[in-house]
Amino acid sequence: MKRVAVVGSGPGAMYTVKYLLRHGSAQLGRIDIYEKLDTPFGLVRFGVAPDHVEVKEVATEFKSLLTEHSDRLKLYLRADVSTPESIRALNMSYDGLLVATGAQDALRLPLSPLPKYTFSARDFVLWYNGHPDLHGLLLPPSPRNVSIIGQGNVALDAARILSKSVDELLPLRKDSLLSETAFQWLAERQSVDGPLSVSVLGRRGYLHAAFTNKEFRELTTMKDATCKIDPSELEGDMDELRLKSATDRAKSRGLSIVAKCIEANSDMSKKNSIYLRFFTAPAAYIGDPLNGISLSGSGENIPCDMSLESIGFKVIGDELGLPIDATTKGIANDGLGRVIGMKGVYVAGWAKRGPRGVIAANIPCCIETADAILSDLSKGVHNPSQEPSKPIGAPFIA
Ligand code: NAP
Repeated sequence: MKRVAVVGSGPGAMYTVKYLLRHGSAQLGRIDIYEKLDTPFGLVRFGVAPDHVEVKEVATEFKSLLTEHSDRLKLYLRADVSTPESIRALNMSYDGLLVATGAQDALRLPLSPLPKYTFSARDFVLWYNGHPDLHGLLLPPSPRNVSIIGQGNVALDAARILSKSVDELLPLRKDSLLSETAFQWLAERQSVDGPLSVSVLGRRGYLHAAFTNKEFRELTTMKDATCKIDPSELEGDMDELRLKSATDRAKSRGLSIVAKCIEANSDMSKKNSIYLRFFTAPAAYIGDPLNGISLSGSGENIPCDMSLESIGFKVIGDELGLPIDATTKGIANDGLGRVIGMKGVYVAGWAKRGPRGVIAANIPCCIETADAILSDLSKGVHNPSQEPSKPIGAPFIA
């Protein structure tokens, strides 16, 4: 019977394990999953926004998988095997090694030096989700103006969480979806007299904005915040936008949300505002601690006392001793998940495809990797030279 080790326990890992067991049960012996934190499921636990409860539900499926196959599927917590040496050691002692470590870092703008109170949105998201490494993140006590650079779904998640009323935050705290530290900070922010203004800055226009309609629409249904768009920052009037988006169904459908945000420009009924601003690329930070951002081109200065750079993520290969593909920015693989130059080592999820795509995008990706692993196992492509040693870490009881 073949033995497989898995590094990471996020969606890329767990979906691949699910399809390994579903498609190749007969040839599989032990599967050992190694998670370096003391909480499993990676991005599902620490990346998905606390109010996206339905997305987090996938953790229940992962737990059931562990229970159902507990005779041979084990998850070990506090088991850090993310060094080149430990990857090599696992490769030598298992028939197959799946690396599903996601994207471990944030891309940052080349704006230096970074003044106090500039953060990556990644750190902010990990912080409000209670990630142990970000517990001590030092945010400004009560910012009035926050700028978020980038217009992907991470930016919109952060804008939404920042602008929620205490009533909306309370159930998230009750269910431990939002960390207590984050709840205290956000509630304190919302209880100060002044309004909160969040500017979400995109260097391109609406037609190229990276966010999806579900997340965009959520900004227009908030209790204490209004999402606003200045029509002069769009690629034309609504008729022109209709024409320009005719071949893009999602952008075309999003125009009704755009119209709502334009209308909301003069709406002063809610305390907080989220400004979705297009064609606004930051040129420099102003002040230290931060008190503004100057935009390139227009030279406009946007007042802000906290900034989140939300321009995407980075897969780190060096720390694992694995090569990065210059095009996908994921770990170099044959497109089916086999790591180039390392027999018996596979990737899935963001580590394979590069840091893009929602959680459901893992399903076809992980099926493909699981099938590549099973095909190689059946052909005996990789022969481990050592017996697996006793697994490290603390067993997770689902
Ligand atoms: P993303 O979708 O790639 O968006 C990155 C944003 O940063 C884009 O607006 C991009 O603009 C901008 N950007 C990149 N480089 C820049 C620069 N040098 N200066 C200014 N702006 C820059 O990344 P993400 O928001 O981090 O999300 C990563 C993936 O996770 C995405 O696939 C996303 O859909 C997914 N995700 C989904 C959810 C959800 O479903 N709720 C939540 C979180 C994340 P350009 O387009 O001009 O490059």
